[in-house]
Amino acid sequence: MTTPVTGPVLVLLDRDADGGLRPPVLELLTAARALGVVQGAWIADTNRSDPDERTLALLGTYGVETVHQLDVGDADVRLTPVAAQGLTALVQRSGASVLLLTSSFKNKEIAARVGVATSAGVVVDASGLGVEGDRIVAAKTVFAGTWNTRCAVRTPLAVIALKPGSVQAAPPAEPTTVSVVPQAVTVDVGARRVRVAEHTERATSTRPDLGAAAVVVVGGRGTNGDFALLEELADLLGGAVGATRVATDEGWIGHDAQIGQTGVTVAPKLYIGAGVSGAVHHRGGMQSASTIVAINNDPEAPIFEIADFGIVGDLFAVLPQTTAELRRLKG
Ligand SMILES: Cc1cc2nc3c(=O)[nH]c(=O)nc-3n(C[C@H](O)[C@H](O)[C@H](O)COP(=O)(O)OP(=O)(O)OC[C@H]3O[C@@H](n4cnc5c(N)ncnc54)[C@H](O)[C@@H]3O)c2cc1C
Repeated sequence: MTTPVTGPVLVLLDRDADGGLRPPVLELLTAARALGVVQGAWIADTNRSDPDERTLALLGTYGVETVHQLDVGDADVRLTPVAAQGLTALVQRSGASVLLLTSSFKNKEIAARVGVATSAGVVVDASGLGVEGDRIVAAKTVFAGTWNTRCAVRTPLAVIALKPGSVQAAPPAEPTTVSVVPQAVTVDVGARRVRVAEHTERATSTRPDLGAAAVVVVGGRGTNGDFALLEELADLLGGAVGATRVATDEGWIGHDAQIGQTGVTVAPKLYIGAGVSGAVHHRGGMQSASTIVAINNDPEAPIFEIADFGIVGDLFAVLPQTTAELRRLKG
């Protein structure tokens, strides 16, 4: 049997607004280590170009041997064509067998672009990863979460976007010493055809990122626009707040909170849906949650078909009792 992972496994090192590694990156590094030699792709931007010592130490703790520090000059790395061209160059220079990214809107577009540029097989929204025989194989649910598939990549390079929460992040016994390799890449005019005219940073929230949160509390039409009880519960559990499309279309909460086929895909350990019917378009974005709790006053609501725990009742009566009991248990 030959292993398909002859070259390094390159992991895109996404950062949060403060410049620190986003938690799902540690999950990617854990998955990467099971495949082979782990290298990181650090896309330097104008504000925070260098991985600081704390970040390098953390990367070493997770078994990263080399960090390729990409410098695309004056090109805007916020643009996916720019990031994709940079990553394509890194993949080619490092001889990587696998490129791993966190599955987010932006990264899925980058993955597709790298795939086209390198003729690589691409799997996005993967929920698992491994080697079977001489192929990289990614698990993925399709058709709004109703089918589980395993997708074998048939090209020498596999580009995989892994959903947050798919792997339990765990460092190896022995840390590594990380070497940083500067990589200057000239981005062509094709990637610069769009200019970011303006950008506004989202107001910072103390809640975790929706796509990566271990606990997600979700409101639908049944909330009638009142998300206060959901926010209270989410804060008690250290979770994020999400919504159905009805709730975001009504303007009750921002569109970035929408979960589903045309929103964010989540795979939390715990999903709590209140006043959510469980329509197929919504299920597509949350069905792979480990535990699903549904609160709905209609016992026939479709969400009960996929719920691990169901509460038939008025969310405005159930949620205050839930938070009160949690507070009591927490002391
Ligand atoms: C192409 C396309 C893409 C779409 N993409 C998405 C997507 O990405 N995400 C998404 O969410 N939707 C999406 N939708 C919309 C989707 O089909 C559903 O319309 C939507 O998910 C329903 O939202 P909801 O559950 O909030 O509302 P409803 O289906 O109206 O359900 C509300 C639920 O609340 C319950 N309820 C009411 N009052 C209470 C109360 N006081 N206490 C407890 N329960 C109560 C009701 O019994 C009901 O089950 C898409 C639709 C299309 C056509």
